[in-house]
Amino acid sequence: MKIPFVDLKAQYQSIKSDIDTAIANVIQDTAFIRGKYVSEFEAAFADFLGVKEVVSCANGTDSLEILLRAWGIGPGDEVIVPAMTWISTAETVSYLGATPVFVDAHPKYFTIDVNKIEEKITEKTKAIIPVHLYGLSAEMDKIMELAIKYDLKVLEDSAQAHGATYKEQTIGTIGHAGSFSFFPSKNLGAYGDAGAIVTNDKELAEHCRMIAHHGQKAKHDHQVIGKNSRLDGLQAAILSAKLPYLESWTEARIRNAAAMKNALYETDLVLPEYPDYARHVFHLFVVRTKERMQMIEFLKDKGIANAIHYPTPLPFTPVYTSEVNSKANFPVAAQLQGEILSLPMFPELSDAQIQYIAEAIKEFSCTNVVS
Ligand SMILES: *Cc1c(COP(=O)(O)O)cnc(C)c1O
Repeated sequence: MKIPFVDLKAQYQSIKSDIDTAIANVIQDTAFIRGKYVSEFEAAFADFLGVKEVVSCANGTDSLEILLRAWGIGPGDEVIVPAMTWISTAETVSYLGATPVFVDAHPKYFTIDVNKIEEKITEKTKAIIPVHLYGLSAEMDKIMELAIKYDLKVLEDSAQAHGATYKEQTIGTIGHAGSFSFFPSKNLGAYGDAGAIVTNDKELAEHCRMIAHHGQKAKHDHQVIGKNSRLDGLQAAILSAKLPYLESWTEARIRNAAAMKNALYETDLVLPEYPDYARHVFHLFVVRTKERMQMIEFLKDKGIANAIHYPTPLPFTPVYTSEVNSKANFPVAAQLQGEILSLPMFPELSDAQIQYIAEAIKEFSCTNVVS
């Protein structure tokens, strides 16, 4: 049996007529840039999240950068970011000339360790970017408490957590703003690049919209230095066609994750854990094992795709290497670096596939004991 890491083909087959119609409509209307398909998706996504404003943009990385720019973050400023995340979270801070200050991961949940944030706050700190890693929300209460105490902005990087909740609140709507990616393999994915900024702050939304559209307030009325960061009509129509299915896909992910945990219960793997207050939407199913390298080879031979998210925690990547960003200063990230492994996780994963993965891992454990 061959098991892919995600199965976007299976998903397309299940909603083919919706997608094909959506694409045909955009072409028929030649509504390629901005226009009604983009506005419709912005309204639908705002409704889905229960947030006032959605500003679509070209990709998730831009949604982070545009928000930071709108807040005027630049040279001399510091922004708190987690050690365990995709590069975009820190890269956008650096790109604007500010400094990302990393905080180690929580040993059990891998999201930012909220008990290690305060010690990193200085006079220069302007914002915190919690990441809802793998689909699990960061501990937002503590983060909002610190934000109030030190007058900081909170940008929720929600690229991996569409539809996740924290204490019944929808992810992306708890901080001052949220950023989303619709990269094809994200829980809600376009058929190309796409992103969005979400907020209840109308003024902030207008500022972001201006930055994303060449700094224009109205056509040819350039108020600030902006950029070209647009969601295109085709991607918007595809996202609108997929959005009604997102809740059922999320439920399927949650069911599959529970089935995986159940099937892997007796193995030596450390399985994903999450607190009661969170609705974990399992963008990724990340386990831990001390025999990772052997297991990767074994799974590959069995036809089971797998990956590491991410092979190098950000403080240790070449671009961020420094004396403060040493392994000794990030002991949890340093340990996770050698042990984490992402197993296949997607809504269409079948019971037979889950059993096959579990059997393979059990076989691996036995072989390893004997050898
Ligand atoms: C995917 C991702 C992004 C960036 O999104 P793009 O659309 O690829 O630019 C940012 N942050 C996190 C945590 C992500 O997983």
